[in-house]
Amino acid sequence: MSGKIQAIRGMHDVLPEQSVAWRRLENTIINIIRQYSYQEIRLPILEKTELFQRSIGELTDIVAKEMYSFLDRNQESLTLRPEGTAGCVRAGMEHGLFHNQQQKLWYIGAMFRHERPQKGRQRQFHQVGLEAFGMPGPDVDAEMILICTRILQALRLDVQLELNTLGTVESRLAYRELLVAYFNDNRKALDEDSLRRLETNPLRILDSKNPDMKQLINSAPALPEHIDNESVDHFEALKSLLEQTGVHYRLNSHLVRGLDYYTRTVFEWTTDQLGAQGTVCAGGRFDGLVEHFSGKPTPAIGCAMGLERLLELVNLQDGLPTEPPHACLVMAEGRAANWGLKLAEDLRDQLPGLRLLMICGGGSFKSQFKKADKSGALLALVLGEEEYENQAIGIKSLRDNEVQLNLQQEELPGWLKNRLAAELNLC
Ligand code: ATP
Ligand code: MG
Repeated sequence: MSGKIQAIRGMHDVLPEQSVAWRRLENTIINIIRQYSYQEIRLPILEKTELFQRSIGELTDIVAKEMYSFLDRNQESLTLRPEGTAGCVRAGMEHGLFHNQQQKLWYIGAMFRHERPQKGRQRQFHQVGLEAFGMPGPDVDAEMILICTRILQALRLDVQLELNTLGTVESRLAYRELLVAYFNDNRKALDEDSLRRLETNPLRILDSKNPDMKQLINSAPALPEHIDNESVDHFEALKSLLEQTGVHYRLNSHLVRGLDYYTRTVFEWTTDQLGAQGTVCAGGRFDGLVEHFSGKPTPAIGCAMGLERLLELVNLQDGLPTEPPHACLVMAEGRAANWGLKLAEDLRDQLPGLRLLMICGGGSFKSQFKKADKSGALLALVLGEEEYENQAIGIKSLRDNEVQLNLQQEELPGWLKNRLAAELNLC
């Protein structure tokens, strides 16, 4: 074999310099979701292809163009999940989570879509998703929007919530005819993608990202004027709950979602800071999906946020955070190094927030100090022969010119706690 093997296009490594930002983003999001007592569900990354074909819809972009599907060794068609809802519904039915029950679930993980890689669009990307089953009312819609709002506020992001209602599937069919007639009358103004969608999924034309299509779309018949009364009532109730809880939204009658199964409420948060890939979180109600699979009506709502896009925004704003060691242990070889291992464990017992890096492999003090400095640590803890003999420890600041301090080893935890008070709170 010759040549270097590289990662697959559109699938990115998260290197150590980026992983702190990832972990913090995930923690912020997950901690907020836990405030609402949603429960985590972990699902396989591979599912039967049929699951996505039947849930997302044959004519959607995802199923028609974007899935990573392959035959396994048993000639069964499998697909790397392009989104989380289908697997969640499959698992819920398989394990009886929906029958006479309400479920509030969340998941985190990688999704796969064979799209053209560009900024904000990968082939492997990551989502945190929320899914609630068994609750028909607008209260759970409002709560889901509030969870996302709280997350986006905690990240201090400047994003805009857009809201729409798609009505029921039946009421949408009548609107679909109107829309097809309108776009047929204006065929000449349609781009290639929209011409295709006119045959397959005409509502999706409203979602076109092509600026040349904007005017035509703005003059198209508006969906909310053509939906059923119950959906209108649901939407009005949701809007008033959002107003009551101080959530700002913008109505966007052209907001449709890419998947076939959406009903009633749809929403997304967008930003203009990320160019064309400006949607950071999107979701909606899909009351018909579980019934479509199992025959049992189960109202449901879900949403997913794209972690890469959120991270890009957070990093633009805050820069990349790092977590260098607080202290590095520099030791003479032999007895001192053996004792140092034990000393380090004792320190970790006493100061669980301490990030203590041991320079393994020995070497001269000079080379160890070089490594300690490179690690970005604040302090070097020095255990030479003499310190070992006297049960002492040297402390050298690596970030300024303070003179080396010598303490008895038993004084070290207290001293570090004091000195690193601000940093140790971080963990
Ligand atoms: P878009 O219109 O940007 O293609 P979508 O409607 O296909 O988005 P959803 O299926 O609703 O996206 O996924 C929810 C979120 O996941 C998106 O708002 C976005 O933040 C993120 N996302 C979707 N596809 C990608 C991708 N290929 N790369 C990175 N993030 C993505
Ligand atoms: Mg897409």
